[in-house]
Amino acid sequence: MSERRIAMVGTPCEIMAASKLQYYTDSPIEVKLGLFCMENFSYKYFTNLLKEYDLKMDDIEKFRIEKGFVFLLLKTHETLKIPLSVAKRIIRKNCNICVELTSETSDISIGSIGSEDGWSTLIVRSEKGEEIINGAIEQEFIEAKPFNESQFKLLNSIAESKTRKNMEFIERREFLARPVLYQREKSDDSIASEVSQSEFKDLKSNVIDVGACVLCGACEYACPDNLISIDDTKPIMKGECPPDCHACFAVCPRTFLPEDLRNDNSKAIGEFIRVLTVKSLKHTQGQDGSIVTTLLDYLLTNKIVTDALVVDKHDNLAWKPYAKITRGIDEIIKSGGTKYSVCPVFKALSEVD
Ligand SMILES: Cc1cc2nc3c(=O)[nH]c(=O)nc-3n(C[C@H](O)[C@H](O)[C@H](O)COP(=O)(O)OP(=O)(O)OC[C@H]3O[C@@H](n4cnc5c(N)ncnc54)[C@H](O)[C@@H]3O)c2cc1C
Ligand code: SF4
Ligand code: SF4
Ligand code: SF4
Repeated sequence: MSERRIAMVGTPCEIMAASKLQYYTDSPIEVKLGLFCMENFSYKYFTNLLKEYDLKMDDIEKFRIEKGFVFLLLKTHETLKIPLSVAKRIIRKNCNICVELTSETSDISIGSIGSEDGWSTLIVRSEKGEEIINGAIEQEFIEAKPFNESQFKLLNSIAESKTRKNMEFIERREFLARPVLYQREKSDDSIASEVSQSEFKDLKSNVIDVGACVLCGACEYACPDNLISIDDTKPIMKGECPPDCHACFAVCPRTFLPEDLRNDNSKAIGEFIRVLTVKSLKHTQGQDGSIVTTLLDYLLTNKIVTDALVVDKHDNLAWKPYAKITRGIDEIIKSGGTKYSVCPVFKALSEVD
């Protein structure tokens, strides 16, 4: 087993893949910091959309999505807003069947909904998460205030509306015989039996070819024979699978979910211990309250983890995300800020022995 203990940051679908890796394998992931996520975009289509506004990715200082608009804060200090009704066409198809807003299987979830500017909304979900937040408050890495009833109502109603809207998509897909396996309620025994009969070709026909792949890279990471590779759009397999390997099908967040991990869609933000509104006392360069950066700083400083798995952007391809493993706080600060497109986050885990 690896000596490394990793804190990872990810969207709800990536956190679900991390939870499945923990469930099915000897995973080095120790702490899961989940982001809120309403939707995500294709990098290529986003670049093309910007061309319609005579802009390039390199012209953008920061992205924000709120109140029905994508706000582009330009390097010239101007702001341009694109209605989400226009940006809808560049949303990845898999996001239409995603019913989770707040990373329900994380230890701690973080987003901006409900909090004032410069603050973040934080959901503590596990005992481990509770210990981390108590320590971070005590050591003055973060300050926290209670999340009041009206803030809670807003978060709940946005989470509910995402689930409701996307459940309608799921019903339509299932009606057209395009399976949405991760929303099927099966017993653990029945899942074990399905997994034992499945391999990459089943992942391809039930997830990848039907537009359900979230491009997380967990299948590539889990393949013991390195047969899977991921380009910008989908995983591809070359070679012959050994008998009795089902790893890629098991860990994919869009195949069947074990009962313990399955979302209860009647609980808008899932199970939790408490919700807070929080602000960093150490960092300011992040997307909202710089809480992700600060919690990673706290976890590394206190040696609770050995490394962090974060998503940075390429130096020579503006806003193009890529995942990396680091233990350097400067690298973590540099990775702050939201990149509104996907990358296979688990690719970076392959470097961990
Ligand atoms: C695609 C996407 C959609 C989101 N949608 C919402 C939303 O609808 N409502 C809401 O309240 N919040 C949303 N968030 C979360 C929000 O944008 C902030 O990431 C969150 O509030 C944390 O802010 P911070 O200042 O604490 O983070 P920071 O300290 O700035 O750290 C941000 C961390 O996010 C990670 N990250 C950046 N981009 C990605 C990516 N593409 N994939 C995985 N990890 C990434 C980096 O590793 C970095 O460590 C979304 C995030 C993403 C990535
Ligand atoms: S599937 Fe899309 S909307 Fe859902 S968590 Fe992943 S990136 Fe976000
Ligand atoms: S060897 Fe296993 S993990 Fe790799 S592609 Fe085949 S079934 Fe999937
Ligand atoms: S097919 Fe692979 S990359 Fe796509 S969602 Fe499943 S595990 Fe992630």
